[in-house]
Amino acid sequence: MLTWQSNFPVTSQTSRIIRFGKTVTPVVAFSSSSHIHQRSLRYAVLGAGFAGLSVAWHLLERSATDLRVCVDVLDEIGIGGGASGVAGGLLHPYSPKVKPLWMAAKCWEETLRLLSIAETQNGALNQNSNVFIARRKGILRPVVSLKNMSVMNDNSLASCRIRSINEDAAQSLVPNISVPLDLAFYMPDAVNIHPQGYLEALYLACETLAKEMSSVGPGEKAINFHKRSIGHLLELEGEYDAVIVCLGARSTFLPELSGKLPLRTCRGIIAHLRLPDNTSEEFLEHSPSILSDAWIAIQNPRNLYAGSTWEWKSRNYSQNVSTEEASKALEELIPKASAVYPNISKWAFNGARAGLRAMPPLTSNGSLPLLGQIDDLIGQTHKSKFWLFSGLGSRGLLYHAWLGKLTAQAVISCDEDVIPLELTSWRPKLIRKS
Ligand SMILES: Cc1cc2nc3c(=O)[nH]c(=O)nc-3n(C[C@H](O)[C@H](O)[C@H](O)COP(=O)(O)OP(=O)(O)OC[C@H]3O[C@@H](n4cnc5c(N)ncnc54)[C@H](O)[C@@H]3O)c2cc1C
Repeated sequence: MLTWQSNFPVTSQTSRIIRFGKTVTPVVAFSSSSHIHQRSLRYAVLGAGFAGLSVAWHLLERSATDLRVCVDVLDEIGIGGGASGVAGGLLHPYSPKVKPLWMAAKCWEETLRLLSIAETQNGALNQNSNVFIARRKGILRPVVSLKNMSVMNDNSLASCRIRSINEDAAQSLVPNISVPLDLAFYMPDAVNIHPQGYLEALYLACETLAKEMSSVGPGEKAINFHKRSIGHLLELEGEYDAVIVCLGARSTFLPELSGKLPLRTCRGIIAHLRLPDNTSEEFLEHSPSILSDAWIAIQNPRNLYAGSTWEWKSRNYSQNVSTEEASKALEELIPKASAVYPNISKWAFNGARAGLRAMPPLTSNGSLPLLGQIDDLIGQTHKSKFWLFSGLGSRGLLYHAWLGKLTAQAVISCDEDVIPLELTSWRPKLIRKS
């Protein structure tokens, strides 16, 4: 079995999160007798990936100050235990389609906001270290086929420009990059996130927010992490006011939802490559990451991730990758990567990891995540309300922040109408609100 070597230094705070879960870890206990008569709400967020932690943050942030609110995050592995923890971390609004991405500007803005919250938290903990959770050097996409020659300029995306450049300009950004059609799209504002570092910092930011809100307002706020495997949704019935299912591809494995969600699963492998110690030439510090048939997410001048494979209908959600699976993945990824970055041949394999994507169906607005209330899908009368936020596909970073916020607003207000119809219309008409 190949193991993954994370570059993310584990701080005392982050290691506390990773070790969470054998026991329940209450961060803020509801103890004050002065709060005894206040209304209190308990929310369960299932899954500690991009979707779950975005919902958790926004549930805390958007709850009324005079309410006692407890958010329990439940995950059987830990923070980043699913696809989010292994994602390539490329954040950009580029679409190879002629039509711009649905609500790209709003999604972009909200993700940058959550990212800066996580970075502030990270900075507060690691003031003297060079830990990064976002590398802001942009992303370059050499055009390799005639069908990708045009890109729709989305004018609402002023904060993430997409520039067309020629081979010379591309090579000044990444020396020796191959630009076969003398055209590349350069997104100077695109970001490369370290997903595990980001998620850990975001969870800590939730803890900080809960403490701050408890100290300034009359209603205490708490967030707890529980390492717990959910076999059936109904095992949580009655324990919580609302249960929000953010289990990614594995939402489809729950008995209550199996066969009812229009999601296809797709396993992806990414490889960690390093420059051998005896190679002096490095990837330039200022050079952007590269997007192509295979992408190259630069971590630092001597470490990169290359991805990703697409194994449709897989049910294998393990992050571990066998030697055989890794070799097959490399056979596929290296030729694709070297078509744009021939120097990839100088990099040595250093491990591989995998995740299971939840791919939503294609609609007239593109492939959009699935949101909304699912009580009727579960099919019984409940004391708890059940919600879904899944199907982030291969754009988890772009979608999680804004759609997590919408989900939290809908849960808090018990009103699904705050969610655009495009995101709830996946359900059979019968159960949609008219
Ligand atoms: C190889 C790969 C590369 C990718 N690269 C990018 C990228 O560069 N940029 C980008 O935007 N997106 C990327 N994606 C897509 C992105 O990773 C997903 O869209 C995103 O992670 C989905 O987040 P999620 O929170 O919905 O699901 P997940 O991250 O899968 O989270 C679900 C969580 O639920 C937990 N869980 C599951 N079942 C149970 C259960 N029964 N009980 C308790 N807990 C459970 C899991 O442990 C997990 O932590 C990539 C995906 C893959 C596979």
